[in-house]
Amino acid sequence: MKTLETLFFDELADMYDAEQRIARALPKMKKAATCKHLQKAFEDHLEQTQGQVTRLEKVFKAFGKTAKGKTCDATVGLLKEGDEIAAEFKGSPAINAALIASAQKVEHYEIASYGCLHEWAGLLGNEEARELLLETLDEEKQTDDKLTELARSSTNEEALEGAEPGEATGKSSTENKSPRLARNVR
Ligand code: FE
Ligand code: FE
Ligand code: FE
Repeated sequence: MKTLETLFFDELADMYDAEQRIARALPKMKKAATCKHLQKAFEDHLEQTQGQVTRLEKVFKAFGKTAKGKTCDATVGLLKEGDEIAAEFKGSPAINAALIASAQKVEHYEIASYGCLHEWAGLLGNEEARELLLETLDEEKQTDDKLTELARSSTNEEALEGAEPGEATGKSSTENKSPRLARNVR
């Protein structure tokens, strides 16, 4: 019979595959970005993602299992779409906005997955696994917030105004006095 435990290991294998795909995609996304702050964000998240792969191995281990992956079709699709949009917007002032949008779709998928996984680890009574998964969940949320801030501080404005790529200021939204941006601030 399929149980919550079966579901947990299915989803864990899915994320083990997803993280490795994301780790392979991030250097390409960094290369496609023209804003140095976004390049740095992708670089930082690559390092984090590599740590998340190792952390997933620890989660398997916390259950006495060896890590194994199972193709994550959603990540395959999200990354393919990201590739396509990056190619389409290459040389456009909207390239960084396009890359942020693609990256955030991936982050949201990860947030949903780790949100479930960490709850399930708790239900399965494995506190070590629950804590490990919560750490990754927090990293994904922080990355998502960072991307939102980057979009608000410079990238969206650059895309709107058709500014030269690479002229992004990287200022936080609170420092930025643009009335157009101020409307976007919650
Ligand atoms: Fe991740
Ligand atoms: Fe998946
Ligand atoms: Fe991520």
